[in-house]
This record gives sequence, structure tokens and C-alpha cells, in this order.
Amino acid sequence: MTRILVLGTHNRKKGKELERLLAPYGFQLRTLADFPDAVEVVEDGDSFAANAQKKAVEQASRLGQWLIGEDSGLAVDALDGAPGIYSARYTGEDANDKSNNRYLLEQLTNTPLARRTAHYTCHITLSDPGGNVRADCEARCHGRIAMEPKGSSGFGYDPLFEVVEYHRTFGELGETVKSVLSHRSRAIAQIVPQILVLVESGEWAEGH
Ligand code: IMP
Repeated sequence: MTRILVLGTHNRKKGKELERLLAPYGFQLRTLADFPDAVEVVEDGDSFAANAQKKAVEQASRLGQWLIGEDSGLAVDALDGAPGIYSARYTGEDANDKSNNRYLLEQLTNTPLARRTAHYTCHITLSDPGGNVRADCEARCHGRIAMEPKGSSGFGYDPLFEVVEYHRTFGELGETVKSVLSHRSRAIAQIVPQILVLVESGEWAEGH
């Protein structure tokens, strides 16, 4: 049986990471680009969990597909957890990775390396085609914010996010290392067993 799983994100690079991480598990992966009816879910939740759930439930109900919603972001300790759930729009509605990274560095101008600790969070929620939450998980990846951008791999804050043990940013480390250490890979590692239980119990077919 073909098991379609839709990745409920409009962020192309994030979608690619999710695709790579889920590729080994035998699902027919689809992105929102495959669905002209996909909606633009408003991210007005007050937590990663609330936003991931909203994305999963609203989009799955709309498309009538099993779908994972993902919400993620960066929290910097010296900035009391900012940008947090506002990571994508740190510099406002027209924000992009470049402006966000520049602004983050400005905010940390007088903060020494030892006090630039930070973590990424990734929350993933699976919804069935009827809009019911069927699996849920959250994971983190700890590091610190470098003094300047380094490397061009990944997306978002990756050129600034340094994995302390490696003394390198995700921008420098590349996708193979990121796919082992990142918040997203850890969240996928948690949710896959929950999804496989649904598949093995025969529930995955429900709603089709
Ligand atoms: P979302 O699409 O609302 O979940 O926004 C996530 C935002 O958090 C992205 O636009 C990035 O700014 C940041 N972010 C989340 N995960 C990552 C990552 O793996 N690398 C770099 N930035 C990330």
C-alpha cells in the first residue's frame, strides 16, 4: 500500500531536510508544492507546540492527507530566549535569513562568546486526514552564537549557530553532520517510531 505523508511546510530548505530525514522509512513524501489547495496557516500560537499543531491540523484537514506540521526556532539565553517563536520574522514581516542574522549579531554586540549559548527547538506534530493529532514530539540542539557568520550550508541561523564540540557552525559542518545532530533530526527520530506504530496497527489507512 502507498503511504503518502505530506510535509506541511512552505520553507523549501526545511522541507528538503525533512525529506532527507524521512526518506529511509518508505513513505511517499509530498510537499505543499504538490497541493495547489494548500492553505497559508497563520502562525499565531504562543509556543512551537501550538504552531506545529495548528499547521498540522489545519493543513491535513484541508488536504485530506496524513501530514506533519513542524515549527522550529532559535532561543538565545542572553536575549531571554529571543527570537524564539519569532525566529523567521525576527526583523519583521519582510525578514529574510540575512537580515535576521545581521540583527542577531547586533543584539549580541557586547556579549562575549561564553555568554552566547543558545539552542534550536523543533516541534513536530502528525495529523491524520481528519485533522486529529496522532503523534507529537519536541527536540532541542544546543550550541552558541558565533561572533561572525561562517559557512553557507543549511539555512536560517546556521552560519551563526556553532556546535561547541566541533568549534564549527552548521553552516560549515554541512548537511550530513546536521542530519545527525540537529533539533529536526532528533525530533524525527522521536516521531518515526510513533508513526510506525500507527502504520503497523493498520490505522494509517483510516480516512482514505
Ligand atoms: P518556522 O518556519 O516558522 O518554523 O520558522 C523557523 C525559523 O527558525 C526559520 O526561518 C529559521 O530562522 C529558524 N530555524 C529553524 N530551524 C532552523 C535550522 O535548522 N537552521 C537555521 N535556522 C532555523
